[in-house]
Amino acid sequence: MCPTCKRKIAISAKANNPYKPFCSERCRLVDLGAWLDGAHRISAPISEEDMDEGMPGPSRDGDDTPGPN
Ligand SMILES: [Zn+2]
Repeated sequence: MCPTCKRKIAISAKANNPYKPFCSERCRLVDLGAWLDGAHRISAPISEEDMDEGMPGPSRDGDDTPGPN
């Protein structure tokens, strides 16, 4: 499955797909762009948002987000 557009990728297309795991160059660039964009804004991976519910994190609404810049 393509991580960007969530479309199924045919096995035959996967075999000679230079953009895998994406379905196309477009989706690959979109994902790369999103990753770079996110890396600049937040340092935490998306999965950590699940922990947000039980843990009152330090000033998530503040604009002084700590982390590597
Ligand atoms: Zn795709």
